[in-house]
Amino acid sequence: MSSRTSHPKIRPEHLDRRALVYVRQSTPLQVRDHTASAARQYDLARCAHQLGWPESHIQVIDQDQGHSGASSLGRDGFQYLMAEVCLGHVGAVLSLEASRLARSCSDWHRLIEICSLTNTLVIDEDGVYDPTQYNDRLLLGIKGTMSEAELHWIRSRMLGAKREKAQAGQLRYRQPTGLVHDPVGQIVLDPDEQVQHALRLVFDTFEQVGTALGVVQFFAENHFSVPTRLYGGARHGQLLWRPLDHGRVLAVLHNPAYAGTYVYGRTKTRKVVSPGEEPSVKARTLRVALDDWPFVLHDHHPAYITWSQFQRNQQRLIDNCTSQHQDHRGAIRAGAALLQGLVLCGRCGRRMTIRYMDDGKIPVYECNQLHKRLGEKVCQSLRGDRIDAAVAAAFLEAMHPAELEVSMAAIDQIADQARRVDRQWEMIVERARYEAELARRRFLAVEPENRLVGRTLEREWEVKLAEVDRLERESIARPERSIRLVDPAERGRILALAQDLPALWHATTTTNVQRKQLIGCLIKDVCLNRGETMVEVSIRWQTEACTVLSVPRHQRSCDARRTDPAVLARIRTLAADTTDRRIAEILDQEGFRSGTGRPLTTNIVKQLRYMYSIPSGCPDRPAADADGHRADGRCTARVAAEMLNVTVSTIADWCQSGLLDGIQSTSHGLWWIRLTPEVIARLRKPKRRSWTRRSVS
Ligand SMILES: [Zn+2]
Repeated sequence: MSSRTSHPKIRPEHLDRRALVYVRQSTPLQVRDHTASAARQYDLARCAHQLGWPESHIQVIDQDQGHSGASSLGRDGFQYLMAEVCLGHVGAVLSLEASRLARSCSDWHRLIEICSLTNTLVIDEDGVYDPTQYNDRLLLGIKGTMSEAELHWIRSRMLGAKREKAQAGQLRYRQPTGLVHDPVGQIVLDPDEQVQHALRLVFDTFEQVGTALGVVQFFAENHFSVPTRLYGGARHGQLLWRPLDHGRVLAVLHNPAYAGTYVYGRTKTRKVVSPGEEPSVKARTLRVALDDWPFVLHDHHPAYITWSQFQRNQQRLIDNCTSQHQDHRGAIRAGAALLQGLVLCGRCGRRMTIRYMDDGKIPVYECNQLHKRLGEKVCQSLRGDRIDAAVAAAFLEAMHPAELEVSMAAIDQIADQARRVDRQWEMIVERARYEAELARRRFLAVEPENRLVGRTLEREWEVKLAEVDRLERESIARPERSIRLVDPAERGRILALAQDLPALWHATTTTNVQRKQLIGCLIKDVCLNRGETMVEVSIRWQTEACTVLSVPRHQRSCDARRTDPAVLARIRTLAADTTDRRIAEILDQEGFRSGTGRPLTTNIVKQLRYMYSIPSGCPDRPAADADGHRADGRCTARVAAEMLNVTVSTIADWCQSGLLDGIQSTSHGLWWIRLTPEVIARLRKPKRRSWTRRSVS
């Protein structure tokens, strides 16, 4: 094979160009462990030399090591090879088999097509192919198809085996902290009691507070942390204690493994093309909805919670989430509105929102989704205090037979919670003491000669002792609510109170959140519909039974200030022959008040007469006499103008500027002027005689 024309298909024009040897292994594991295959691939360079290419013309492309051949994306070496073939720089492409070059038919056929256009040979272990010849092209095409099919078979066989194992619940995957595989491969509870306890505390706290963030707050207030058992690597199996965060609570609550259920297929991966300057295919993990989980085996292993509790938790988390779902209840908040998250609009069926008036004291239920999203009118807006009171009364009535039981359970729950907090603290201190003891023993075990090691161990022991000391102090310093609860006298008092749920309900120590939790236990939703004078309140209980209440509406503020019709009737009778001033006096004596509750004055009577068009047969002040004078000696502007030899508008100007003593009955009414001899002497203008004379001449 050393001659330049060793193979009939290899011609001088091929040998003048370069020979590219393409080397690839599909996974990093293969690259690391299967070195024989790599050696065989590199050996192709020698083969090319034997076929007649000079060594300077042979190039090995091996940057795609560890990349799958399923797609050309991400394989820079293959892209380079394609570019070189396109440019006609390549005489032959050498590869161990078609699967090394491409597992995708589209990549493979494109390569063959371009090779046939640029007269490039394809050489593998079996022989030399010239894509310009039909038979060779056909053979290469079949090889590519087989290679892709092979990948498909391998994958489907592997997936089939995996699914079969999953169906039987035997496919092993990483379990969440709190569950471990025992030596025979069964899933069991973590043998560490503190780990178990911490997880139980997460579930129990969620049961009580109802929100994931509430659980985080509880853990933060008590300085508790949660464990993470490391998986894989050098520190496999070690425990790490970290503060609880929101994501972790959600991960715990959403994981069905804690309910003893084996689930395979909670997530799926889908390839998506991410657009951009360089479009690339990326695998994205998607969550599969609970109802679509392919393999679910209940009671598969020991559990922390029951399956029904798991489902309840899921529903609660969905209800709490309002950012994406306008129709969800939302988490219970501390505000006074009792029906928060429960109210539906009786007109359009949408969930109503809450705002507060009067410094947060009075809740207002409002259907404003369309207003907020589309700028339309607010559907209806209702004052909530009477509605809340009516629903609370209905609730207390419904609770009557069960009240004692519920109250007892509530107290037990609180006591239980306190006990669990104590136990958690005990275990934290116990673990710290144990670790200090371990450090002490390690220190004692070291040879006295080995001072360096001894010093390190001694320091470690000291650190552990300090930690024990800190935890003990913290444990003592924390608020002692458990002690408060076990006090028998206190408990007796609470029990006495529990006999009477209404008292408990109205107690100042009962928070809004607790009231709402109680309401939410029994009531599914409340539908409000505003009528002319009444609000129709339809309560749908959790049992789907319905109670409809009618609650009187609050008066509108204009209605609340409206004058009593009796006052108007009285004014009508009196107005015929009584002055406004006298009417006001009479009504005041008779105990009548204005719409705003003030005593009636002459002005108010006058305004009422004006508004309700009640004529008066008896004006307050006598009008001017025939020569324009009033009883108080004032005269009209016309009379004053004549006396002073000026126009009426000049008189008005003088009154306004204060030159004349003039008053007006209303802001734009007639002027009444007091004229004294001195004023007349000072302001009187001479008669306009000269003007008359001149005009005559
Ligand atoms: Zn509405």
